Amino acid sequence: MPDRHALLSASSSKQWLNCPPSARLQEQFPNESSVYAAEGTFAHEVCEYKVRKYLKERVKRPQSKEYYTEEIDQITDVYAEFVISIIEEMKRNGCEPLVMVEERVEYTHIAPSGFGTADMLIVGNDKNGSGVLHIADFKTGQGVFVDADHNSQMMLYALGGLAAYGYIYDIKIVRMSIIQPRLDNISTFECTREELENWGESIRETAKLAYEGEGEQKAGDWCRFCRAKPVCKACKDEALSLCREEFLDLDEGAFNEGAFSDESVPSDGIRASPADNSENCKVPVFKQPGLVSLTELAQILPTLNRISSWIESVFAFVSSEAINHGVTIPGYKVVEGRSKRVFTDTKAVVDTAVANGYTDLYKQQLISLTEFEKMMGKKKFKELLGAYVKKPQGKLTLVHEDDPREAIDLTATPETPDREFAAIPDEGE
Ligand code: SF4
Repeated sequence: MPDRHALLSASSSKQWLNCPPSARLQEQFPNESSVYAAEGTFAHEVCEYKVRKYLKERVKRPQSKEYYTEEIDQITDVYAEFVISIIEEMKRNGCEPLVMVEERVEYTHIAPSGFGTADMLIVGNDKNGSGVLHIADFKTGQGVFVDADHNSQMMLYALGGLAAYGYIYDIKIVRMSIIQPRLDNISTFECTREELENWGESIRETAKLAYEGEGEQKAGDWCRFCRAKPVCKACKDEALSLCREEFLDLDEGAFNEGAFSDESVPSDGIRASPADNSENCKVPVFKQPGLVSLTELAQILPTLNRISSWIESVFAFVSSEAINHGVTIPGYKVVEGRSKRVFTDTKAVVDTAVANGYTDLYKQQLISLTEFEKMMGKKKFKELLGAYVKKPQGKLTLVHEDDPREAIDLTATPETPDREFAAIPDEGE
């Protein structure tokens, strides 16, 4: 869940730790909630409901005509099952764990006024009897893989958890898990209490700078969700200089001055003309080849993501200023887009069609797999219909090698000219 109103929120910590002034710079821009954020909030409510129900608390199932889908039910099940498995394991280790759902945690001893809301905070024992603090965080995103390893958001939640419960319980180990079901991602990072506290000390000075709006404004992949991004000078300078670095050299193109050679072609270069066997012929070598190799394209992919993300944010900001706030943008105008025809009164439509002799106005559909499962219960569903269920292969996606998902062995799959693939997602968190 977003850490509402915290200047140094845990969820934006990657920004203010890398670019301390960003916390104050963003204050002047409204935190406009997107459709994705609203869907995420609803999904978190469903997660909370499922865990509280397991804990036998009196809870009402959250309702939303707009955001409830079978898929929301499935991904929140993944989260609830994971969290419940942690609690059950601690019980098997012989303790009655302390379980806090949607727990506000404060880490003001590290970052001024710092607080956040941990989706789940559990204190119990591991199998050796050592005290464990386990923090779990649910993510609905499907564009960017979020790793728990040294994740500053999780570490700040954990510091808050230690501040609240570390003096009551003898916590020695801290575990932090991110559950991101839409990417089949459940990752856990573990460290000792001492390591976590040392990390907290190491960021104290940066947090102070961020609170005071000081420090160096520095662009990077953490800019992705920064509200100041469309008008941020550092971000604009970085995007334009990346463009210059990556592309303008190509335009300067032509030849390396004086670089006429009959030496072998560089591994990533291309000769300007077909090899000529005549003895005195020197073949010019391009400073940058006329065609870009796949290796070169691969090198600029992370840069392209950053530039396109900045461009998108600028367009979104300028469009919002014009459309939502009536600001005139020189050389541009607001127009109406295409729309689809819709019925204004479905009952009148049906009545009129029937009165005029038309039939077969409705379609009948089989209920969905999830609805079957709900109707029968998981066990019966598996017993009766399990043999007819299969999980098709997802769309192939090119991701950075750091992504922890296992690479597909394409040599083992028959190649087809129309193999489906998804666009490469953004870099960063
Ligand atoms: S967009 Fe600008 S202010 Fe925001 S994190 Fe990036 S560099 Fe810092």
